[in-house]
Amino acid sequence: MDFKNFIDGTWVTTSETIVNVNPSDVSDIIGHAAKADAAQMDRAIDAAHRAAPEWAASTPQQRFDVLDAVGTELLARKAELGRLLSREEGKTLPEGIGEVARAGQIFKFFAGETLRQTGDRLASVRPGVEIDVTRSPVGVVGLITPWNFPIAIPAWKIAPALCYGNAVVLKPAELVPGCAHALVEILSRAGLPDGVVNLVMGRGSEIGPRLVESPKVDAISFTGSVPTGRGIAESCGRHLKKLQLEMGGKNPMVVLDDADLDTAVSACLNGAFFSTGQRCTASSRLIVTDGIHDRFVAALSEAMAAMKVGNALEDGIQMGPVVDERQLQQNLSYIDIAAQDGGKVSGGERLNRATEGFYMAPALVTETDNSMRINREEVFGPIASVIRVGGYDEALQVANDTAFGLSAGICTTSLKHASHFRQNARAGMVMVNLPTAGVDYHVPFGGTKGSSFGPREQGRYAAEFYTTVKTAYTLP
Ligand code: ADP
Repeated sequence: MDFKNFIDGTWVTTSETIVNVNPSDVSDIIGHAAKADAAQMDRAIDAAHRAAPEWAASTPQQRFDVLDAVGTELLARKAELGRLLSREEGKTLPEGIGEVARAGQIFKFFAGETLRQTGDRLASVRPGVEIDVTRSPVGVVGLITPWNFPIAIPAWKIAPALCYGNAVVLKPAELVPGCAHALVEILSRAGLPDGVVNLVMGRGSEIGPRLVESPKVDAISFTGSVPTGRGIAESCGRHLKKLQLEMGGKNPMVVLDDADLDTAVSACLNGAFFSTGQRCTASSRLIVTDGIHDRFVAALSEAMAAMKVGNALEDGIQMGPVVDERQLQQNLSYIDIAAQDGGKVSGGERLNRATEGFYMAPALVTETDNSMRINREEVFGPIASVIRVGGYDEALQVANDTAFGLSAGICTTSLKHASHFRQNARAGMVMVNLPTAGVDYHVPFGGTKGSSFGPREQGRYAAEFYTTVKTAYTLP
């Protein structure tokens, strides 16, 4: 299959393409994706710039109808598109289908929000003057997305962008063109004016800066790695462009002596290893108090050994492959680093399966302390480390001793500690007796410190980024 770019309402090819390979089976070529050059990116930006005023003037009903139709089709096709997602990204089929359903629900949520856009009317301090505070679209938004949630992340950026009246240029990750293409194909039939949604695939390092630096792009929403995000922030700073960044995590999961062991093990297993650990909200630092440490490590190790790792499309698989060879090599090198720094590694070997792919066993590194590189740097793979601590106060201190602040979890039956942790964990999201990963679609998502920058994504808070506030004074 050819995955073309979509510019100004037309599907367009490129002279060069990027091959799309199934990470569970490298002999399975899913298709070839367009590889845009800077000129093609410029055409997409121009199209969005021309189309933005028409969509900004659209009625809530027009916006509702588009978003609702997209949501309905995503939900109806979740099995088929979930299969495509798992085939190109490598998460298990239930995870792939669940992600497509979530994308559908996001469109449904923002369909509803089109009808709930309100403003404030206030009395002026000056006699006879009326004040209205309303929200206007930002204009053209550039959306740059990663490979790990190939349909949900484009959905949670495109749906609010359109809900609040903006035009869009989407630049998805190179590894997952199929999902971006499928989503935009649905959008292309949903009743939008030409140019309101544009899809430009290609190398991020080549066409990404074009999008970020264009004076015709009013705002950038980026999800990806810290170095790329930092570079984009510098560029947006120079251009005084509105910006939203979602980047890495080194998310702590505290397990206290009084935790229910089964709850703690299942939260950590899910949080650290589901989606092959390739979630920015993954539980990568397991901070465990003395009294439960040995029992917890034994029970988690047993659960990990029982995990079925294999082809993402096979029944019963709990962990699919790593997304590609480069990421797999990075994971393996972090396992070496952890061992050299004094950690005790179990699991983490490269695995062979019937089909050739990027498989590895989940890894647990025990006997670590929070200063080791394995506890400072995001790996983005199925690797968790255990940090032994004396009690709750030390656990909280270690949990917060990180450059990141996306999600933080605690497993405890103590209301006092749960409540204190909720208030004092320095993270955008806090989970009690739940994995650090796995969030609802109707509430804000985002972090603090090095994890995020700018307004929150998702839920009603998305309006902060996708609109600009206007205060109007009238003397009738
Ligand atoms: P990951 O390691 O998750 O792939 P990246 O930050 O490399 O994270 O990529 C996230 C997204 O950013 C991808 O869509 C990628 O193509 C894009 N990207 C990469 N480099 C740049 C850049 N210099 N400017 C803008 N976007 C970029």
